[in-house]
Amino acid sequence: MRQRIELLSPAGDLERLKIAILYGADAVYIGGKKFSLRSRASNFDIEDIQEAVKFADAHGARIHVTVNMLPHEEDMHDLKEYLKQLEDAGVTAVICASATIAMTAKAVAPKLEVHLSTQHSTCNSLAAKFWQSKGVDRVVLARECTLEDIKATTAASPLPIEAFIHGGMCISYSGRCTLSNNMTNRDANRGGCAQSCRWKYRLYKGDEKLNDDQELFSMSSKDLMAARYIPDLIHAGVASLKIEGRMKSTYYIATVVKAYRMLIDEVYEKGEISEARMAFFLSELSKAENRPADVGFYAGLPKFSAHLYGVNGAGVTQEFIASVLSYDASTQMATILVRNNFKPGCQAEVFGPHITNEPLIIGDCFDEMNEKIEVANKPMQILTTRIPFPVEKNDMIRKVMIKDRSTIY
Ligand code: SF4
Repeated sequence: MRQRIELLSPAGDLERLKIAILYGADAVYIGGKKFSLRSRASNFDIEDIQEAVKFADAHGARIHVTVNMLPHEEDMHDLKEYLKQLEDAGVTAVICASATIAMTAKAVAPKLEVHLSTQHSTCNSLAAKFWQSKGVDRVVLARECTLEDIKATTAASPLPIEAFIHGGMCISYSGRCTLSNNMTNRDANRGGCAQSCRWKYRLYKGDEKLNDDQELFSMSSKDLMAARYIPDLIHAGVASLKIEGRMKSTYYIATVVKAYRMLIDEVYEKGEISEARMAFFLSELSKAENRPADVGFYAGLPKFSAHLYGVNGAGVTQEFIASVLSYDASTQMATILVRNNFKPGCQAEVFGPHITNEPLIIGDCFDEMNEKIEVANKPMQILTTRIPFPVEKNDMIRKVMIKDRSTIY
């Protein structure tokens, strides 16, 4: 029987990694401080990676480390030693975009699986066969693959296939862009992309200015959200479903991982997902979003409506109001950590690894001096409040927002 599909989450630090695993990720990919794209999101030194593996082992999960920069000659220093350190730490796989790094990993750290990064833009099974002959163990497909591409490639590929299902998209063909290099001297293929595509531009035709200062031009793709395609991907035999976003918050990771965990488990349990259940999963995913989303290339070439022009679309959701630090079942008092403003009396819900959207009207809240507060407006303040049902450390409390999510999906 085929192995169950893997849910692969990103994490930018140990806190987010632990949340990803507790909320249901089978594996987490992280960036080390060396040889990794998204260097700004790479907070794991080798000690952190050792701790990550230990935590993952204890929870039956796996750690993948991105070693995915396209190295220049000057970048190669210490590569072998670093790969050996990852192997010794018990990392399951390295994600490589460079043939040099992939081949070096095979030679010096043979216990590491080598996964070929999406940066390589693999879109067909012949490419997978080629990489198999070089010792690669898994291929991460390009985000530019349609569902039909993914199905056909998976059916004919000798290697397990990993596909992106959620998160940011590049307006360019992923990784084939030098906007950032040109405009900021920050190399997108060495982890420094400044997202220059999302900046605001004045447009000129020769000397003629085409837009005024009130209507500056910018461009980006809507984020990917492929929840509707999960049953197809499972039935097609895809090995791993990948969420993008090593820079994302704990709340984002908890919300997205939990929604996909429930969705995947339900496909295995029931074989298919009803429209009503799919609406629930889409609603859950939208609670983490602050940018409009679309299905990327899954349904074919993205149309004009899959892009954002003139708006960046990014914002920070204020829904996440507190996380649970501890709970005393005998008094029903919870200690919580404030994350965003709220007032006692507001409508909220609690979700966590073992609880799904339990409704809650926030009751009286007390600060560390046991003074009742009128409003919680100090992020990271510790409060106590009564919660009339059992909650656990790492559960999260979010406001129930009545908002039109139709622009999101
Ligand atoms: S600048 Fe934009 S299009 Fe270019 S690599 Fe960065 S995110 Fe992609």
